[in-house]
Amino acid sequence: MKAIICNKPREFEKIELQDPTPVDGEVIVKIKKIGICGTDYHAYNGRQPFFTYPRILGHELAGEVVEGNEKFKAGEAVVPIPYLHCGKCKTCLGGKTNCCPQIKTMGVHVDGGMREFTSVPSTNLVKAHDLTDEKIATVECFSIGAHAVRRSEIKENQWAAVVGTGPIGIGTLHFAKLAGAKTIAIDINEERLNHCREVLGVDHCVNALQNPVEALNDITKGELPDAVFEATGVPSAMENAFNYVGHGGRLILVSIVKGKIAFEDPLFHSREMTVMSSRNATEKDFINVMNALRNQDINVEAFITHRCDFDELTSCFETWSLPESKVIKGIVSF
Ligand SMILES: [Zn+2]
Ligand SMILES: [Zn+2]
Repeated sequence: MKAIICNKPREFEKIELQDPTPVDGEVIVKIKKIGICGTDYHAYNGRQPFFTYPRILGHELAGEVVEGNEKFKAGEAVVPIPYLHCGKCKTCLGGKTNCCPQIKTMGVHVDGGMREFTSVPSTNLVKAHDLTDEKIATVECFSIGAHAVRRSEIKENQWAAVVGTGPIGIGTLHFAKLAGAKTIAIDINEERLNHCREVLGVDHCVNALQNPVEALNDITKGELPDAVFEATGVPSAMENAFNYVGHGGRLILVSIVKGKIAFEDPLFHSREMTVMSSRNATEKDFINVMNALRNQDINVEAFITHRCDFDELTSCFETWSLPESKVIKGIVSF
């Protein structure tokens, strides 16, 4: 089968691999579509903290079962949950399979989906027969925002601010809106803010370069947001986000960076702020996203901006990683 491997930072190679043979409890899946995201660009550029080389990338997958078992029929459309967890530890048994200490994410810690076939534990597959392959390939990406919003416990009519309006920020805004929150998008890119205003229908947009704290105070009448979601992947932006959180509010760090981030303790303490990370997603989040896609609650047409075939992947990948390509989500087809 055809595969593309990332041998080291900035080096892809097209290779031929043996087809996978099924192991106990696993299902062979034919890859139909692959979504490309920030994690892939960071991995390719050597900026992903959990990454080792050589590695087959690809964790946003739409698949089709090749050889079925008692749970899945051959030909059935599936979305792989790429976070392979042990299923036995306290964390997994407590339902937090997204942060199992043994976690191996496909396309990050173990080989992912940039290949024709892959073997996936059937516990990591969700049936998706009523969604198009393109929509299936967006489920993992949207589930990151869905998980962050679920974790924040944001309530109807509360203020949710999302810093960074890339694909993860867009997903977070969608699910904050679905939770009934009043939404604020924060970014330094006016074009992206326009997209949030016009396509996503967020309530307010704030340019982070133009005194964002004052703008947030104006919008929320001095109360500041109940939940601030940070999805920039930029350490200084993560640190600034502490200033955006209202008293008694939550800061949810969705993106991850290499290294330390710092904050002023009096600011953190005076607001009795809760700071939490949000990592990956669980099956519950995948199901919530699939329901939102079924109900047309997510605008996928505006989300998928670029497409290419598997054979063009290596050249398109370089282009898509450049800001001037204006890519939101690129999808690769087999
Ligand atoms: Zn991703
Ligand atoms: Zn575990």
